[in-house]
This record gives sequence, C-alpha cells and structure tokens, in this order.
Amino acid sequence: MMDVLTKTAPADAAGLGEAARILQAGGLVAFPTETVYGLGADATNGQAVAAIFAAKGRPLFNPLIVHVEGLEQARRHVEFSPRAQALAEKFWPGPLTLVLPRRKDTPLSLLVSAGLDTVAMRAPSHPAAQALLKAVGRPVAGPSANISGQVTATTASHVADSLGGKVDFILDAGSATLGIESTVIGFDGDRPLLLRPGAVPREEIEDLIGPLGRPGSLIQSPGMMASHYAPRAALRLNAGEIESGEVLLGFGDAVGAKLNLSPGGDLREAAANLFAMLRALDKTATSIAVSPIPDTGIGEAINDRLRRAAAPR
Ligand code: AMP
Ligand code: MG
Repeated sequence: MMDVLTKTAPADAAGLGEAARILQAGGLVAFPTETVYGLGADATNGQAVAAIFAAKGRPLFNPLIVHVEGLEQARRHVEFSPRAQALAEKFWPGPLTLVLPRRKDTPLSLLVSAGLDTVAMRAPSHPAAQALLKAVGRPVAGPSANISGQVTATTASHVADSLGGKVDFILDAGSATLGIESTVIGFDGDRPLLLRPGAVPREEIEDLIGPLGRPGSLIQSPGMMASHYAPRAALRLNAGEIESGEVLLGFGDAVGAKLNLSPGGDLREAAANLFAMLRALDKTATSIAVSPIPDTGIGEAINDRLRRAAAPR
C-alpha cells in the first residue's frame, strides 16, 4: 500500500530540486540508483544520518555507503591506495563500493563509519543519482531503502511499501536498472577483499587487480548478516521439483514456475528481476522454491542474496 504520508515525485527538475532541498535541510530522501533504491541523508549531518538508522531499524554497528559524484569528490574523505584508485578509475561511476581509510579532516559524520576508521564510498552512474548529488553539493549516505533485513526495494513503490511515512520524499525514476546491490571491496593492508558480491562480477575486478580474498572477521564486513533480504514466506533453494504448498521462482527452462527470473537463462536479467519477483510472490505465497542459479558472474551475487534470504531468522 502506498503511504500517503510520503510524497513521491518523478526525478525531473522540480523533483530533483525538492529532493536536494530536503537533503540539505537534514531530511531523508529515497532516490534511484542503477543498483537499487537508496535511503539518502546528508552524510556530513550526524542527526540526518542517525535518522537513516532509525527509519530502517538498522543496527548501529552496520556502516553506510556514502555516495559521491566521482573520484575527485571521494578524495576529500578517504585515502586511495594505487589499487583502489585503479578500481575507481575503471568502475566509477558504477556499481562498485570501495571501503577505504577515513581522512582525518573529512567532514563526514562518524556514524556513517559505525565506529570503524574506514568509509564505504561509491559514485553511482544513474543519471538521477548523479543529478541529485550535483544539486545537493554534499556527500549523501545511502543504504538500501528498505527495512533492515527485509527484501531490497528496486522501485519507488517498493520503497513506499517498506518505508512510507518514515521518509520525507521519494524520487521516482522507475525500476533500478541492475536490480542488485553494488559489489563491496575492502582492503586488509594491501590485500583486496570481496566484502560483498554484487553487480560488478568478481572476475572483472580480479582481471584488474588480481585475486580477491574473503573477509576474515565480522569487523571487516559488519553488514553481512546470515539472515538478510528475507521475504515473509519460507524459501527453499536449488529446488528441482515443486513440493506441496510451494510456488516456484524459476530460472531458465524450469517447468511449472509461477514467475521466472529469466526464461532465457540470462543472469543479468535474473538479477534485475530478483527482488521484485520475491516481493510479488511474497504477497500470496507461504513457501517459495527457487530453481538452481549458476554461480558465475553476477550469479555469485544472486546466490549470496538467496542464501541469506533463506537463512534461519
Ligand atoms: P547497504 O547499504 O545496506 O547496501 O549495505 C552496505 C554494505 O557495505 C554492508 O554490507 C556494510 O556492512 C558494508 N560497509 C559499509 N561501510 C563499511 C565499512 N566502513 N567497512 C566495511 N563494510 C562496510
Ligand atoms: Mg540492504
């Protein structure tokens, strides 16, 4: 149900102007990006950032991604190693988040780092997100625009379903194009770590900077909770046949699927459909079976989300 308490407007000049003014005044604005919808606040305003945690019910130990226009703006806040710079030059603007050491003189709120001495930074490529960042003229903290632990929002109406009444404004630019969150890369000294698989496939990053390690501790990856992205319905993965009481979320040539992530077996299409189809099935089903998804390319991110969505809550 759309919540009348939150205004939704298209991402045209008027909508962008209103969104920018609300952000500058310390308010919360949900905005489109090429990955998923973000829940934005002025990243230099501690109270505004605190309001993000409250609206989402996000645990305070889970730090936020800060959005900037590009590398030049990011340098004001974090230190780039040569490898980090190579990644930013290749993948920004785009769906890659880099966790880098905070500069001592950054005006960023300490809350975005949740007590760590690093900040996760990303330059989104979506034209509405870029236009918004330009209009605000400040870095914008933006986790996914959904209640913590629940299914990610990839349209403005998903945001209204999740957070209506809890945010000041929703900027609508249709469906997020990629539909799955950014890949998050951190560093242990000089060693690059894959903190979260995402829209940039691991292979493309490893081609540029060599093999990626896995985080050795929860501190390196505080947001990767076992249960996350969870629908209300129970979820069973790698399902061959449908069991009684289940509906099937298919992939490729799956037989008897209620919805199919990609009948042609295209992983990009499947990623773009994943959260919207989980939300759609969750409206009526109590038990969702999901076809096997290949674990290559963006499939690694899809399987990561599905495993967490199916994890005991
Ligand atoms: P979300 O914004 O909900 O898509 O999640 C952002 C992801 O980035 C979470 O998994 C966070 O834990 C992770 N992240 C953000 N900031 C940091 C940081 N400073 N160090 C490590 N991980 C981070
Ligand atoms: Mg999220």
